[in-house]
Amino acid sequence: MNNLDALYQEVILDHNRKPRNFREIEGADRRVEGRNPLCGDQVTVWLKLDGDHVADVSFKGTGCAVSKSSASLMTSAVKGKSKAETQQLFDKFHHMITGKMTDAERGQMGSLAALGGVSKFPLRVKCASLAWHALKSALDGGGEVSTENEGPALTEGA
Ligand code: ZN
Repeated sequence: MNNLDALYQEVILDHNRKPRNFREIEGADRRVEGRNPLCGDQVTVWLKLDGDHVADVSFKGTGCAVSKSSASLMTSAVKGKSKAETQQLFDKFHHMITGKMTDAERGQMGSLAALGGVSKFPLRVKCASLAWHALKSALDGGGEVSTENEGPALTEGA
């Protein structure tokens, strides 16, 4: 393992141990559940929008270190971003974990680069992308919506 791989490994372990934004959001606009039966990962993503921007995003779930750290890194990465920026980041992230990215491009992914190594492990790709798919569904207005927090924002288009 070279130094960079060791650093990436440390980022994943840190986010698995101390996941960021690991909580529910009261009054969230969207709540989407995701599952990866192949590994047993489960994640619920909460999303609060402010117009076109991600005002807050959080998650809770159980699963392997890759799924949990990926969800944690995702929430940190997309908070404050616009829907379009979030979609772009999703696309880049997906390219990275499916091995369609050069090392140089991966180097520009910030903390998310830590998960680039999963491209060598096809089953792990599903773990790393789980929270992102849940977020994308939430942004698109799909998936499960919490009726507990119904309000005007729920009718906002995708
Ligand atoms: Zn997993």
